Amino acid sequence: MATKKKHCFVCGRTENEVSLLLSGNEGFICDDCIMSAYKLLVDAGYQVPSGITPSSSSHQHKATDFKSIPKPQEIKAFLDRYIIGQDDAKRYLSVAVYNHYKRLSQTGGDDGVEIEKSNIIMVGPTGTGKTLLARTVARLLDVPFCIVDATVFTEAGYVGEDVESILSRLLQEADYDVARAECGIVFIDEIDKIARKADNPSITRDVSGEGVQQSMLKLLEGSIVNVPPKGGRKHPDQDYVKVDTHNILFICGGAFDGIEKKIAQRLNTHTVGFENVRQTHRIDPKNLLQYVDPTDLKSFGLIPEIIGRLPVLTYLYPLDREALRRILIEPQNSLVRQYEKLFAMDGTKLTFEPEALDFIVDKAVEYKLGARGLRSIVEAIMSQAMFDNPSQANKKFCVTADYARTEFEKNGRLSI
Ligand code: ADP
Repeated sequence: MATKKKHCFVCGRTENEVSLLLSGNEGFICDDCIMSAYKLLVDAGYQVPSGITPSSSSHQHKATDFKSIPKPQEIKAFLDRYIIGQDDAKRYLSVAVYNHYKRLSQTGGDDGVEIEKSNIIMVGPTGTGKTLLARTVARLLDVPFCIVDATVFTEAGYVGEDVESILSRLLQEADYDVARAECGIVFIDEIDKIARKADNPSITRDVSGEGVQQSMLKLLEGSIVNVPPKGGRKHPDQDYVKVDTHNILFICGGAFDGIEKKIAQRLNTHTVGFENVRQTHRIDPKNLLQYVDPTDLKSFGLIPEIIGRLPVLTYLYPLDREALRRILIEPQNSLVRQYEKLFAMDGTKLTFEPEALDFIVDKAVEYKLGARGLRSIVEAIMSQAMFDNPSQANKKFCVTADYARTEFEKNGRLSI
């Protein structure tokens, strides 16, 4: 016999459909209905005793239970399930995120030590997993997460968006629950595109470069910001939502094309003297990004104040053939697994021949799109099969190298 599920006596939703059910003598009531009743009372002019008004800190605690934040090794193990390679970036990110949430749970003892915020900057070629890393961490922590593109912002007064609209997106992700948004994660992509145009401050105005960096400072360091709830430009007649950015973790990413030259220059100028000459032998010239340091970001055009507010600097490796091949098959939601699942839903067992996978990887390397290219290549190869297969009786489908090549010749050039 099926057991009857507990449900809210006001709205009728079951315990699976709500976050909390409080029990009474005769039945249950859910958190949403309690909140609605609370709002009704306030709107009707009832005086709510100050003791039961949720303070922002207790509210925040409800948003995330910081005591249960996973340890750095656990965070990395979770990242390993979805992201191939990039061990250094994973380690930096795990520690930074752990420390960030530890900082949020600090009780403010009387030792005078205040842990500072650890915003992160990741340098690495496009399609190597920067966004995926940030998104996966946010998923693990179950906090609101948004991605914004730094290129859409301009200094106030010019065509473009105000930097405050970064927080509008976070608010939207948090369903306008300010307390939840205030402990979320923001990923600012293409931070390299707002680099100052020249290393020296210029006499002409740089409204989408240095100007934007300047206006980002207060968001990154932590302050109370007036946010236009719908985003876009701020204007005087608008209502603003006040958002405190002290506890928002900012992760910035950028390809920083050409930064290797700056790194090489720095490494070369430092190689005077016997000891340094010995050290240069250990430098791997094929991957100079691993030696990136804050002075390189400055030479690239980030202002020192921004660099200072992004204290954790890490890098991602370019993806080689082997990494691309592993990305196709290994992660928990790898492309191959996704297509296998799509076909399995029609009752078909899908397999890829190893040579077909090699072909896909070859094309991704040729198109220089990093792992991002893999999806469009596989899509081009599979589109005819996805059209035909659901109506066919044959319940096995093997993608051979020949099939992959023929289909890619037919569709690939159009979609990539
Ligand atoms: P970017 O570095 O430009 O932010 P993304 O994180 O957006 O790159 O990566 C694009 C896509 O490529 C991701 O959605 C993911 O499917 C895949 N990808 C990139 N790097 C990796 C990786 N290291 N491991 C697994 N998948 C990856």
